[in-house]
Amino acid sequence: MTHDPYAPPKSDSRDAAGLRQPAALQISEAEYERIKRRLKEMNRNSLALGGPGLALQIVGNAMQGVTGGLISLVGIGLLVAGLSIYARMRGHSPWFGALGLLSCIGMLILLVLPKRCFNCQAKTKGATCAACGAPAPQ
Ligand SMILES: [Zn+2]
Repeated sequence: MTHDPYAPPKSDSRDAAGLRQPAALQISEAEYERIKRRLKEMNRNSLALGGPGLALQIVGNAMQGVTGGLISLVGIGLLVAGLSIYARMRGHSPWFGALGLLSCIGMLILLVLPKRCFNCQAKTKGATCAACGAPAPQ
């Protein structure tokens, strides 16, 4: 399902309805779409920062001397920023981004942390949050 982020939200949009589960605290259709767009945007930003960050870190470590050190320092900064967005997207504190200081080990820790709903912080499994019906992070 592709969604143009620049398109105005459709009030009659029902395409997501099939994924939703019955629950007491259901969010509205507009709210669902808003959270879905936000999660997509965060996922993109996290990759856009973390990917080059990790690459720079590897390049910097392979190089010797001050230049290499500076390059990996920039890489660590980008990775921390990217992971911080990733942690927030999965319902955790952005401070988890500091795990980027541990490089690959930090990324692994973030990957195994249980996903939480971006909207209500309940633990989620599958495509939607069972507690509030919000789209779950990937
Ligand atoms: Zn929720």
